[in-house]
Amino acid sequence: MISHIIDQTVILKLHTLISSVQRIAITCHKSPDGDALGSTLALCYVLRRMGKDAVVVTPDMAPKALEFIPGTRDIVVFTKQELRAKHVLNEAQLIFCLDFNSLHRIDRLGEIIEPLKTKRVLIDHHLNPEDIFDLVISHPEASSTCELVFRMFMQMGLLRLMDRQAASCLYVGLTTDTGGFAYSCDNPEFYEILASIMRRHIDRIALYNKAMNTFSADSLRLQGYAISEKMKLFPGQGAALITIDKQELERFNYNRGDTETLVNKPLAIPGIYWSVFMREDADKIKISCRSQGDFSVSDICARYFNGGGHENAAGGDFLGTLDEAVAVFYQALGDLFPGQEYTEQPSTQQQ
Ligand code: 5GP
Ligand code: MN
Repeated sequence: MISHIIDQTVILKLHTLISSVQRIAITCHKSPDGDALGSTLALCYVLRRMGKDAVVVTPDMAPKALEFIPGTRDIVVFTKQELRAKHVLNEAQLIFCLDFNSLHRIDRLGEIIEPLKTKRVLIDHHLNPEDIFDLVISHPEASSTCELVFRMFMQMGLLRLMDRQAASCLYVGLTTDTGGFAYSCDNPEFYEILASIMRRHIDRIALYNKAMNTFSADSLRLQGYAISEKMKLFPGQGAALITIDKQELERFNYNRGDTETLVNKPLAIPGIYWSVFMREDADKIKISCRSQGDFSVSDICARYFNGGGHENAAGGDFLGTLDEAVAVFYQALGDLFPGQEYTEQPSTQQQ
């Protein structure tokens, strides 16, 4: 039995809202990942099967590696089609906000949405959503936004409209946000949801391999280089740090998404329970953090890197140089482990 975790009054209000409108926009956070794309596209498919004019609008492009998700070609991408994106949002009678908890996570789309009177529905699993939504489905205990979209379909009696394409989209988010069913999936109901998705005859193995196990040669080489030459370990603090600068990204013909799972790799080492990855982007240092157990990296990202996220997977943007970001990491080590000397185990390059 899959329980009804979404408040029934919210479900009733959703029925009313959806049935009273025709044009619906669906959006998700910048640098969309498998969960953001999977959840928005699945919802889009089902709303279209209800006869709605539903459109997915994203702040920026999906990474090439995720273009296999059904429907990605139909997405209106703000950075590519600014006017069309504005038009869709301005004309929408209802806006779904998926897989993010504050408007700054959608970049300039936030400036467009903020002044609109249009009702906004949040469906998300990040902690502490901003108080800017008219209807809120926020469950940080959920594995993914895709799980919540499934639960919403179920509680609204819409599962009959979840076809193979929508199910495939949801499968991608359930897979990627749990690291391939490694974490955030201890609730037995998660597998009942998977079972329901499997009944739509999705091409599971192909989807899994594309979502989890497909990297370009350049990306694999960059990851190998990062682990071999750039990974620093701090065994006393259970920490790992990998930094990659602009020149290194260029050397490996970096494409968006190429470093997506790199931050997880140091956690394979016994005794390392939190990992930080810093990438020098054009205008900022992108920070990604992962942890195991009850060590919260979302607190670290909020405190030091203008970010947040989940307890075990978080990120942020650092406005400064890579060296400054590294200095902040050392400051965090000192703050978190006061009075404790750190012994840095350098990468092979520095040994
Ligand atoms: P990733 O490391 O894959 O970019 O992000 C992991 C998680 O951290 C995301 O699911 C999201 O919850 C959170 N996150 C990443 N970047 C940011 C950011 O810049 N700001 C906030 N608030 N959260 C972020
Ligand atoms: Mn997510």
